[in-house]
Amino acid sequence: MTGTSNNGNSALNAARRQRELLALGDGGAIDVLVIGGGITGAGVALDAASRGLRTVLVEKHDLAFGTSRWSSKLVHGGLRYLASGGVGIAHESAVERDILLTRTAPHLTRALPQVVPLLPGIGVAQRSLIRAGFVAGDVLRRTAGTSAAVLPRSRRVAAAEALRFAPTVRRDGLRGGLLAWDGQLVDDARLVVAIARTAALHGASILTRVEATDVTGDSAVLRDRLTGETLTVRAHSVVNATGVWADEVDPSIELRPSRGTHLVFDAAAFGGLTASLTVPIPGSISRFVFAFPAAHNRVYLGLTDEEAPGPVPDVPHATDSEIDFLLDTVNTVLREPLTRNDIRGTYAGLRPLLRTAGNTTADISREHAVLRAPTGVITVVGGKLTTYRKMAEDTVDAALAGSGLTARPCRTRDLPLVGAVSGAARDRIPAPTRLVECYGSEATAILELSRATPALADPVAPGLDVTAAEFTFATTHEGALDADDLLDRRTRLGLVVADRAAAEPAAKAAFE
Ligand SMILES: Cc1cc2nc3c(=O)[nH]c(=O)nc-3n(C[C@H](O)[C@H](O)[C@H](O)COP(=O)(O)OP(=O)(O)OC[C@H]3O[C@@H](n4cnc5c(N)ncnc54)[C@H](O)[C@@H]3O)c2cc1C
Repeated sequence: MTGTSNNGNSALNAARRQRELLALGDGGAIDVLVIGGGITGAGVALDAASRGLRTVLVEKHDLAFGTSRWSSKLVHGGLRYLASGGVGIAHESAVERDILLTRTAPHLTRALPQVVPLLPGIGVAQRSLIRAGFVAGDVLRRTAGTSAAVLPRSRRVAAAEALRFAPTVRRDGLRGGLLAWDGQLVDDARLVVAIARTAALHGASILTRVEATDVTGDSAVLRDRLTGETLTVRAHSVVNATGVWADEVDPSIELRPSRGTHLVFDAAAFGGLTASLTVPIPGSISRFVFAFPAAHNRVYLGLTDEEAPGPVPDVPHATDSEIDFLLDTVNTVLREPLTRNDIRGTYAGLRPLLRTAGNTTADISREHAVLRAPTGVITVVGGKLTTYRKMAEDTVDAALAGSGLTARPCRTRDLPLVGAVSGAARDRIPAPTRLVECYGSEATAILELSRATPALADPVAPGLDVTAAEFTFATTHEGALDADDLLDRRTRLGLVVADRAAAEPAAKAAFE
């Protein structure tokens, strides 16, 4: 073990990146090299660093540049996996949900009510199946140790209560709703940044705009995309956590990506939705389209599951047929149908699914896999945001088994992420709710910036809920290196083209 200490500093910024790249130097030797700065790579870096291993994470673009920012932002109880008989993965998911909600990230997660409106389109058999599923979800919750105070038990609600959660649902024929609770992230990219910063707090180097090439089981060439310079690093263990790009780093991996698309609306289009409005997809017993409240006063509507063969794009795009499918499905329960004119933006992501002998991508297991290539590279792929911690634990265990390294046991179950705060301590934070929901205990740091420089209290553009102080904090503490990082990942303003354009001058100004 090449020990490393908790250096007490979670702040990521350009100066630290520069310093740590220099310190690494050409021919530098470390314990664990992690390639990929999505949820999986960030999780592995945190696990390894917190066990005392000298850890470097390299990310070609920015933290959460890939699939990890295109999710539905749910902390799943794994109910859907039960439908396909995956009891083990469902339980694992529920356990990890509990860890996120109650211990590691209570500031970035919340309980999300999910309402299925009972309209004439839902027959008795379908209603019974959904209800049975929700009851199974309650059992999963209890066996994972999550109390009903954290996630209330499911129940049937009257029409008036269903409408309070989802005011734009059709009233005629509404016989009430089925209500269940799951976990929701404030934002997926923010979770990735919080994990990466916590890894940095434990001594990991988090190097964005650095691409790994020529990867072997104990080395890689690292190219600084800002300067073009390269250096070779030697590592006891090399972890490939590059998601849908995993086969570029390790050609022995075979992937079968599937695209999931969401549409973005103003919150007003759903009339003050406070739940996930959950609409069964006709003909399926376990798949739903759902609309849910999201950052910046928006509602996202998802989700598709389409095979996506061929070259993997940096940024995937929604197709016309996916947009029609989502609109058509949600409109089956709305009083006033939504049209394309209501859509403010779209986003799409590719699930990094392993190729198996299965049928459609929707049937492929979402379980994660940790695979050791003949070269010695360890690839971790699959899984989901919710289970990142367990994926990381399994990966570092595998890395240790093959490398001659020794380290402390995994400790991430009880390791709060930066900003973690809950209960009364959270209620006492003297900052607006929105800031506390995004930054947890660090919300006061944003306010202090505004106090020191009052102009930073201004919104980044009229009508937007982000202040210039948040952009500044992202450059000094959250590793943002340019305006795109601020608009597309530290905040999600970039999902609406007009908002992005309005906020861009402030984003650029944050680097002047
Ligand atoms: C539409 C959709 C909805 C989803 N919803 C949910 C949900 O609600 N809840 C949930 O728990 N899960 C959800 N998931 C699953 C979850 O989002 C993914 O499993 C997870 O984000 C994958 O993360 P990753 O880190 O493995 O990959 P990525 O996030 O893609 O990260 C890989 C990173 O590697 C980098 N990289 C690639 N090549 C190199 C290289 N050579 N050198 C350096 N860096 C490199 C990339 O730039 C990228 O940032 C969803 C997935 C999709 C597609």
